[in-house]
Amino acid sequence: MLRSSLSGAFLLLLFFLSAVSCGTKREEDVRVVSVTIEPQRYFAEKVGGEHFKVNVVVPAGQSPETYDPVPRQMMEIGRSAAYLQIGCIGFEQAWMENIRANNPDLPVFDLSAGMDMIGGGKEDGHDDEDGNGHHHDGADPHIWSSIQGARIIAGNVLNAFVTLDEKNRPLYEENYTRLMAEIKATEDSIACLLHPVLSRAFIIYHPALTYFAEDFNLTQLCIETDGKEPSPAQLMELTDVARNHNARIVFVQQEFDTKNAEIIARETGCRLVRINPLAYDWPEEMIRIAKALSDE
Ligand SMILES: [Zn+2]
Repeated sequence: MLRSSLSGAFLLLLFFLSAVSCGTKREEDVRVVSVTIEPQRYFAEKVGGEHFKVNVVVPAGQSPETYDPVPRQMMEIGRSAAYLQIGCIGFEQAWMENIRANNPDLPVFDLSAGMDMIGGGKEDGHDDEDGNGHHHDGADPHIWSSIQGARIIAGNVLNAFVTLDEKNRPLYEENYTRLMAEIKATEDSIACLLHPVLSRAFIIYHPALTYFAEDFNLTQLCIETDGKEPSPAQLMELTDVARNHNARIVFVQQEFDTKNAEIIARETGCRLVRINPLAYDWPEEMIRIAKALSDE
């Protein structure tokens, strides 16, 4: 009697374990890819689903222009199945060569490949092993805060995952199609919010919305110049320009100093609005920015 109930319980346990292992992807089957900033994780998780885990190098609240990784992070990057670059942001300009030198077999995909970059020089002629041209020297790296940038990033993420895991191509393509529909819906919401807006100019401390402004025919007026605090003369000049453009908002981010932004806001009578272009939830943040601009 006892023997038959024990074997029954054992069979039940065995059945339960096999059910669990079949349902969820085994940890070792999940590949890790490394990215630089949180918004990349959003796009990568949307396309990769449960097949890829995303390791973000620059922690929330840190500036990806100046962040330096700790040794543990360099190990994590080395253990990744691939590195997905956002393009030419400060961190990547400073560290990608080191990462490549220490991990010669690590595939690196440039998610800005094919993007019409603003500022800086064009392709500087050298390619990585995937034949993607690199945009260095001064191009504005903030491509993810835009609709055109999001589409380019989504396509390059798809290409990367299909290259790394061909057998699941149909799944990645399906996820990609769904993501493109979400990007379109975000574009429509923003266009709708901005349609009645009269003042098409905004002030921002750090030029994080260059491509957003291009997408929606807005004028971005920056306080920071070439990565540095403005001089008093530059602040005065910006105050005049802002008045001429009838700007109503000063955008600030947690990663950057707000002192000068507060001065400008006071001088011009603008509202000071906190944004987080490095937030994970890309559509939510894009729409939040448009909402702030539409609240005239
Ligand atoms: Zn930046």
